[in-house]
Amino acid sequence: MSTVKIAPFEATPVDGIKATVNLCETAFRAQKTKPISYRLTQLRKLYWAIDDNKDALVEALRLDLGKPTFESFLSEIDWCKNDIVFVTKNLNKWMKDESAPDMPLTNSLLNPRIRKEPLGTILVIGAYNFPLQLSFGPLIGAIAAGCTGVLKPSEVSPATAMVMKKIVEESLDSTAYAVVNGGITETSALLEEKWAKIFYTGSANVGTIIAKKAAETLTPVCLELGGRNPAIVTKHADPRLAARRLLWGKLHNAGQVCVSQNYIMIEKDILPLFIEQLKIAMKEFYPNGTKSSPDYARIVNNRHFHRIKKMLDDSRGKILMGGEVDESQNYIDITVVQVNDEKDSMIVDESFGPLMPLLAVDSVEDAIRIANSVHSTPLGLYPFGTKAETSKILNEVTSGGASVNDAFFHGSIPTLAFGGVGDSGQGAYRGKASFDTFTHRRSMTTTPGWMEGLLAVRYPPYAGKLAKF
Ligand code: NAD
Repeated sequence: MSTVKIAPFEATPVDGIKATVNLCETAFRAQKTKPISYRLTQLRKLYWAIDDNKDALVEALRLDLGKPTFESFLSEIDWCKNDIVFVTKNLNKWMKDESAPDMPLTNSLLNPRIRKEPLGTILVIGAYNFPLQLSFGPLIGAIAAGCTGVLKPSEVSPATAMVMKKIVEESLDSTAYAVVNGGITETSALLEEKWAKIFYTGSANVGTIIAKKAAETLTPVCLELGGRNPAIVTKHADPRLAARRLLWGKLHNAGQVCVSQNYIMIEKDILPLFIEQLKIAMKEFYPNGTKSSPDYARIVNNRHFHRIKKMLDDSRGKILMGGEVDESQNYIDITVVQVNDEKDSMIVDESFGPLMPLLAVDSVEDAIRIANSVHSTPLGLYPFGTKAETSKILNEVTSGGASVNDAFFHGSIPTLAFGGVGDSGQGAYRGKASFDTFTHRRSMTTTPGWMEGLLAVRYPPYAGKLAKF
């Protein structure tokens, strides 16, 4: 049992929100956050505060999601620290002006360039499943870009939200960065303020509310939304590799991963072999089952437990593996279900949990048709098969990102931009994209006085001047 004490969740008083935003706005207007030295100092302080509070974070993530310690370091704590290291190493290069390419001599005398300007005071709204990564990840980009801002973590992971607030308050400049904790009331109050950008991660339903509100003041948004991500396993795929990797795609955070495959379509010929390999992999990863294992998370709360359980109950599919649930722990085992109908709720709705529906298909073409009918723009796509087959699938099914012959591995590459397309989101972040998403690329020229004679041709009267071009 951990001896770390986590403060009980407390929503931030709504009547103080306007003053907090004004403070951040004033810091931005005072040019405080623009020097690279300031940005690097803030990022380094955040790095060390995350490190200093790692035990509290591990405990908070365990309380919120039963997150295994290994996963807490892999996809939360070290994830954020590594992002900070990458950003601080490259910031100087990213901040530099960029010259316009391929200029004729006269244009080059004007020094045409792109200056990287911070957008201003921004709002980050986080989701519950990777509460640290999905909140601090964008915040790191905002600090790097020279923005000030407010972070609103998900109240559905309350313990981690409180530790994040402590980390920000202990480490960052309190006139420039703040955490507002709370749910709909607090987020709605935040949305009444004017922001330079809103960065939102969460469901498409709430994303629509955010985008509508932002549109009232023409505020730009970055939306990282949900995915009904297909995996497609062709008859030429290696069934052992596909089974192990897709099982990993569901066991991590008990399937509460936006890029996790939502359903697997598999060519009929290979289905029995694939199921056999899934059972072998399950036994290898969890010799005594998931319930007693320290390496398996829990569903975040009772509401989501019932949502996922209902999905399982409503499905007309046949359970092949797992199926055990325990409400007292919000526990749902990794559950493999064979479904026969492409309209089954387990295929068309996002489970965001440890459900693994398998749908047998006659051909790759059939799988592509179904993938495009379920969700034309999923967040992730996971084709397993030959090079020709996986290329065909990639060409014919659009998605935010894709991992070939794997579950969501593309999402773990720190230097690769991450984001959705169409219904699964707009905008991207991670690596340099985190800096870019909070940066305005300001096109500029500077016209020297001595060029006046050279440029006078632009002034009227125009008669006879066209011939000079
Ligand atoms: P959610 O939409 O319920 O909540 C996200 C955030 O919005 C929270 O901070 C919450 O407080 C706030 N919110 C909720 N209702 C609101 C309202 N009516 N008005 C204003 N703000 C409101 O999402 P969630 O349940 O935390 O996350 C699950 C969803 O997010 C899934 O669909 C998942 O696929 C998606 N997701 C996407 C990504 C990604 O990177 N694309 C990452 C994680 C989760």
